[in-house]
Amino acid sequence: NLYNMVQDLRGNIRVYCRIRPPFSTETKNVIDFIGKDGSLVILDPLKSQKVGRKVFQFNHVFGPTATQDEVFRDTQPLIRSVMDGYNVCIFAYGQTGSGKTHTMYGPSGGSTKDLGINYLALNDLFQLSNRRKDITEYDIHVQMVEIYNEQVRDLLADDKLEIRSCTGENGLSLPDATMHSVKSTADVLNLMKLGEVNRVVSSTAINNQSSRSHSVLTVHVHGKDVSRSIVRSCLHLVDLAGSERVDKSEVTGDGLKEAQYINKSLSCLGDVITALAQKNSHIPYRNSKLTLLLQNSLGGHAKTLMFAHVSPEGDSFGETISTLKFAQRVS
Ligand code: ADP
Ligand code: MG
Repeated sequence: NLYNMVQDLRGNIRVYCRIRPPFSTETKNVIDFIGKDGSLVILDPLKSQKVGRKVFQFNHVFGPTATQDEVFRDTQPLIRSVMDGYNVCIFAYGQTGSGKTHTMYGPSGGSTKDLGINYLALNDLFQLSNRRKDITEYDIHVQMVEIYNEQVRDLLADDKLEIRSCTGENGLSLPDATMHSVKSTADVLNLMKLGEVNRVVSSTAINNQSSRSHSVLTVHVHGKDVSRSIVRSCLHLVDLAGSERVDKSEVTGDGLKEAQYINKSLSCLGDVITALAQKNSHIPYRNSKLTLLLQNSLGGHAKTLMFAHVSPEGDSFGETISTLKFAQRVS
């Protein structure tokens, strides 16, 4: 298919940018131009058109009016390749309030309309496995963990178990986290709800429900025919903690420690992806829990997709530029 052709030419990392719609209270807009070819022009609200313009290039840019279905349509080929044995990692990066959770889970407030990639991906995997069931029988299991202050915790265990080991034998991730068999999208919705409730949230000046942890939904796909295993692969769906710099959140004490852990793990993720993009011989997976956990879906034959989330709001200009630069570095 087209996706695999493009991948062969460009390597295994794609970067999409998504701009959330402005809230009614937001008046200054930093978006100057969105090209169909993945180009994006940002304008510093305090400078002139001549000196304040910055140009970026991604695989695709989804503007404020893009729907969940449009975003998923461009993500679907990657999900489908999981059924063919590829490990895949999809993650959402950006400052708090830029739309990461919207893309991955769906709208805040628990609405079942406009559900995000996590739900749509599993729905798609169920449909595909149904279609292929005469030839191959697929088992689908999920795990859900959060990484908070470099500690990994099981979000689907009764009492949030701490997970010590991120990778097990055969490169399988999270050998100690509880595995939950899922047979339908209803099963998935129930587990996602439980996982969201268990996520760590604390207040910052930016967003009082801001997620200060990375959440990882891992989907294990095992396909077999009567006599043997045919496919074993996994899909990591990651909603990263907010990438904003410490000073803006005006945090001290515990909040400061959180922010430092977040900065460190996000920069480790950036280092790993940059090293992969540059085809370096040493890939620094071991520098953070996040990269250790995602190791089997970053590099090698795995396929990686990063969503760089930005807000259109003028006051976020600095954070927007830093998110776009991070994303540009790896694309
Ligand atoms: P983050 O997870 O990055 O902190 P959220 O996903 O919680 O950000 O988004 C912040 C707010 O903006 C939420 O109320 C969310 O529902 C809304 N929002 C984000 N992206 C979109 C979008 N594409 N369309 C409509 N609402 C959005
Ligand atoms: Mg969020």
